[in-house]
Amino acid sequence: MSKKRNGKVYLVGAGPGDPGLITVRGKFLLERAEVVVYDYLASPKLLKHVPKDAELIYAGKKGGVKHTHTQEEINQMLVNWAETGKNVVRLKGGDPFIFGRGGEEVEVLSKSGVDFEVVPGVTSATAAATYAGIPITHREYTASVAFLTGHEDPTKPDSNIDWAKLATGAGTLVVYMGIKNLPIIVENLVAHGRDPETPVAVVRWASTPEQRSVVGTLETITDIVRESGIKPPALIIVGEVVKLRKTIDWFEKRPLFGKRIVVTRTREQASDLMAGLEENGGNCLEFSTIKIEHVDSYEVLDEELERLEEYHWILFTSLNGVKYFFERLYAKGMDARSMKGPGIAAVGKATADLLLEYGVRADLLPAVFTGEGLAETLLDQGVEGRNVLIPRAEKAREILPETLRGAGAQVTVAPVYKNVAPEGKREQLREELESGKVDMVTFTSSSTVRNFLSMVDAGNGSELKRLMHEVTIAAIGPITAKTVTDNGLQVDIQPESHTIPDLVHAIVEFYSK
Ligand code: SAH
Repeated sequence: MSKKRNGKVYLVGAGPGDPGLITVRGKFLLERAEVVVYDYLASPKLLKHVPKDAELIYAGKKGGVKHTHTQEEINQMLVNWAETGKNVVRLKGGDPFIFGRGGEEVEVLSKSGVDFEVVPGVTSATAAATYAGIPITHREYTASVAFLTGHEDPTKPDSNIDWAKLATGAGTLVVYMGIKNLPIIVENLVAHGRDPETPVAVVRWASTPEQRSVVGTLETITDIVRESGIKPPALIIVGEVVKLRKTIDWFEKRPLFGKRIVVTRTREQASDLMAGLEENGGNCLEFSTIKIEHVDSYEVLDEELERLEEYHWILFTSLNGVKYFFERLYAKGMDARSMKGPGIAAVGKATADLLLEYGVRADLLPAVFTGEGLAETLLDQGVEGRNVLIPRAEKAREILPETLRGAGAQVTVAPVYKNVAPEGKREQLREELESGKVDMVTFTSSSTVRNFLSMVDAGNGSELKRLMHEVTIAAIGPITAKTVTDNGLQVDIQPESHTIPDLVHAIVEFYSK
């Protein structure tokens, strides 16, 4: 009998929030993980590195209130998975050994004889300081820094924290988990001799587009935090170095910082636009192109496939039309030989190229690669009394079939695929528009405009106008802009050259004014 493969648990620091701040080693391990157990504070964006078939387990833990799993359950889960021989990544926010109970987790692993490794991470204290423009140490201000937890009740007699020593013992203090106890913490520091004028910064969601910082002194910070509504997760940074933020603040000063920008991702552009906006501090809400799916029923096509030889023309108006047509043809046990009767027309070069991959050469290509262009070219051929089959999307423009019918052709439209908008993001988009969170919507093609319209589900124009009332619109070029205005909206930004970098530049200029 072969010996069972031994599993291993990698305790990996995810970094403070920005998914770019994980270590190279951490990413390497995520890419090879079979099981990932991750926390509330570990950026969910990191999960894109994990293989598709890996098991993803959310371990929760939000502000200590609603624990999805208890610490004991998590410890046991790690042991169990390792014992099944799996490669387990335990992904923890920041650094696993800084207030993350990582020590306890590996103690259990060690006692259970499970192999493990620990990968450090950028802890939120240094990230918060850096991203708030506060050098955590500085020759002129402080030579020491202490990290402490504010989770403990500082008034309890058996507190692990010696406030008397800490209050003046280190130049810079960084308090994790201290928002709830902030009033007691500052009181203690002052009571034990720290100058009430000492500057204090509180930084929430450090290194993410949602970062928020406020600054005050030991005397004023409690009121400032309460008034600004800052909630966990946040860090408290106490010390003279906080003064430097005035000159060094860089992250929150980027031109698009705090701007919520909607980006429709299309296949062609991948995410260049998002990357460009995010480089400038933009907080992008991305929704991906409408998904393509099979139609619910192939009834029409199936019937027509039986009598393909009666057709004079088959018109392919999209790549997906070709793909799904052939899929069905093959599923019926047929192949390209069944198509030797009718003439084959493609709307454009790409569609014709794809047809060739399925073994069929297009007989006809229009001069202009549009539905109108194809209709015109066919009309030149004379279509009266001709049988025409159009395998295409369930919902599409009717201009082609209507023009041909008008000229006396017998046209059958066979739906072979459909466009579906991803549901989850649609709700988020609606909600963010509704609550006024969205600053800008970008459009990089007419199809992104249509996509967006279908996502906000604006059946009537007044609803759309209401939702978009305060939202800035950026369009990449005149055709896209025309689609926007045709739908009753106004374009505020349009770059002179119609490229993604130029669009990014125009948006940055707009907000820098
Ligand atoms: N191991 C983590 C800390 C876990 S304790 C690390 O090394 O960073 C949880 C606390 O960390 C939170 O209550 C908050 O004080 C702090 N924290 C974690 N991520 C943060 C972030 N992005 N911004 C501000 N504070 C953060």
